[in-house]
Amino acid sequence: MADLKFQRNFGIAAHIDAGKTTTTERILRYTGMIHKIGEVHEGAATTDWMEQEKERGITITSAAVSCQWNFPTVKGKADANTKKYYFNIIDTPGHVDFTVEVERSMRVLDGLIALFSAVDGVEPQSETVWRQANRYRVPRIGFVNKMDRAGADFLMVVNQVREMLGAKAVPLQLPIGAEDNFKGVVDLIRNTGIVWHMETEGMTFDEVPVPEDMKEEVEHWRGQLIEAVAEYDDTLLEKFFDDPNSISEDEIHEAIRKATIDLSIVPMMCGSSFKNKGVQTALDAVCRYLPSPVDVGAITGINPDTGEEITRMPNAREPFAALAFKIMTDPFVGRLAFFRCYSGHLDAGSYVLNVRSGKNERISRIMKMFANKQNPIDFIEAGDIAAAVGFKEIKTGDTLCDENHPIVLENMFIPEPVIAVA
Ligand code: GDP
Repeated sequence: MADLKFQRNFGIAAHIDAGKTTTTERILRYTGMIHKIGEVHEGAATTDWMEQEKERGITITSAAVSCQWNFPTVKGKADANTKKYYFNIIDTPGHVDFTVEVERSMRVLDGLIALFSAVDGVEPQSETVWRQANRYRVPRIGFVNKMDRAGADFLMVVNQVREMLGAKAVPLQLPIGAEDNFKGVVDLIRNTGIVWHMETEGMTFDEVPVPEDMKEEVEHWRGQLIEAVAEYDDTLLEKFFDDPNSISEDEIHEAIRKATIDLSIVPMMCGSSFKNKGVQTALDAVCRYLPSPVDVGAITGINPDTGEEITRMPNAREPFAALAFKIMTDPFVGRLAFFRCYSGHLDAGSYVLNVRSGKNERISRIMKMFANKQNPIDFIEAGDIAAAVGFKEIKTGDTLCDENHPIVLENMFIPEPVIAVA
């Protein structure tokens, strides 16, 4: 059984044009699944990969794409001590017309990267998605993209997230330089600068001391960060005032993780996905701060026969229960039903009950979508996301389960949002 602690199911939410496609492409490149990449700004992306994707009907806008990330990275390279994380990136459509689709995807993801343009800040669609994420209590980290553009202003966006979205946005970094001169970031946790190598477009970097003229600002924001998460670690604030150097990085990370999962804060980072700057750090933050299916815990459903409430743990030994969140047609394999498995285990070739239709249907194949290929897998287990082939009748929102243990997940209990106001 896979260790669910290392699984992350997350989406990237953004207003159109903020750079979601570019960022997703970068992620798939860094995670080693793509070797050639289309540059979006040069018109339609036209690499072999994209051509092939178009033909096969799976793209990075596939409902869910899977990849692996080696965490942590050292100087942009995989270190011997890395830990492999398994990502399912769930598509959250950025266009206003797809609001209902965003809603569906929100149900199956555990965390979000909220992407903003450093020039345009909080835009109408960011607000819509934000409200939906509040409704489903989805923890998020903020990534302020396009720091290389004229007019880029990281702290302006941080303020907008506070004021317009009512969230306690807390910078984890401060940019070093902006616009053409955007060189790197100060990591407020480590209290050190990171400057990317221009010739490798941010793929590698040097650690540098905090620039002299930023020291005061860094101290201020580092204090804000510690204060914002202090209630999640009793000793943090004490240490901060007594001897800030006695705080370990791990202590801060853990407090940020708890505060993020609790929706108390939204950690904010910045970069330029177009220039390959900062995306890798954001992926490390996904591992560090966004919840795993274990953190999310049990889900609640209804027994369709008795009307009783049932809970299921994210555990492969529980009875199988899954939710279909997107139906797509692939020219090669036919109808694909993307689903999230909340509990249990399902072998390809076996039968599941669709509670709505009352039919037991055979899943001929279970597929995982990677950047450049579709891989059939033998089984799927709790916490994971895949696509099923073989359904005769299926709709978005259908619960799929073990016929001996029927459950309906559609009426999943959704608590009222509690978001701390800055
Ligand atoms: P989406 O609509 O959110 O998927 O946005 P895209 O990824 O398609 O990006 C929209 C436009 O912004 C494209 O022309 C990209 O090349 C450009 N872009 C994306 N990220 C950046 C960035 O970090 N810096 C700059 N200067 N341009 C970017």
